[in-house]
Amino acid sequence: MSPWRLIYITGNGHSGSTLLDMLIGSHSECITLGEIHQLTLKAKGVCACGAANYKECEFWRDVDSRLQVDGLSGLSALHVDSADPEEFRRSNHALFRVLQEKTNVRWFVDSSKKLPRLKNLLSDPSLDVVPIHIVRRPEGVICSNMAKGRGFYSSLRSYYSGLWARYKYLRGKQSIVVSYEQLCSRPEYVLTQVMKRLGLTFEAAQLDWSSHDHHNVNGNKRTRTSRQSSIRLDERWRRNLSVWQRLLVKLASVKFRLWLLLRYGAKAY
Ligand SMILES: [Zn+2]
Repeated sequence: MSPWRLIYITGNGHSGSTLLDMLIGSHSECITLGEIHQLTLKAKGVCACGAANYKECEFWRDVDSRLQVDGLSGLSALHVDSADPEEFRRSNHALFRVLQEKTNVRWFVDSSKKLPRLKNLLSDPSLDVVPIHIVRRPEGVICSNMAKGRGFYSSLRSYYSGLWARYKYLRGKQSIVVSYEQLCSRPEYVLTQVMKRLGLTFEAAQLDWSSHDHHNVNGNKRTRTSRQSSIRLDERWRRNLSVWQRLLVKLASVKFRLWLLLRYGAKAY
């Protein structure tokens, strides 16, 4: 049996992972699943198609029925993010098997973002996983976090701890790094490079991502349910962060780069 192919988008929250997920998932040979680890946990989460939750979505209801035909108890019995390796494997395999049979696509896109899930998926020989690390400049992520009520210092700390953890883990592995700023400024160029790495050819229709039928769950709700395929570089931080906050972010950035240089030398970049 050939392995299931999975594109796994990882990165800090508010880095544009949902947009990237939709853009890749709009390719004719890909399908976006969204933050699939949350599928059955947040039964009230809106599906990208507009259904109030996965139980009311035609796509996921069909997946549910197919699982039951396979002798399983359906989606609600799957624990795709289980800490138990056997359960993790059983649930994810059951889901991928049904999704492959239903959609017959070459690649699934999982934008769960979490590193532990990526580690579990990469250790499974039945899966061909390509990690994509999406990186947004710190000011943008911090500003979005602050808009959600988080403090400046904790947002700054979590940005660099998240970046460091992903950098360290993915270093030396086959992975793709995507800059959020570049993706928004030159989407066609960035997507052409990404699709080439996946053995696919960029399709212009990918840019009109909202016109495609998607059933990805969780992630940025506004992007997932938008009916306009706008790719807008969000730089509200230029207005909303104070000069002092920007200076602190700059200093943290220099410190991080120096730390990489000391640890890995010139090969750090
Ligand atoms: Zn749906």
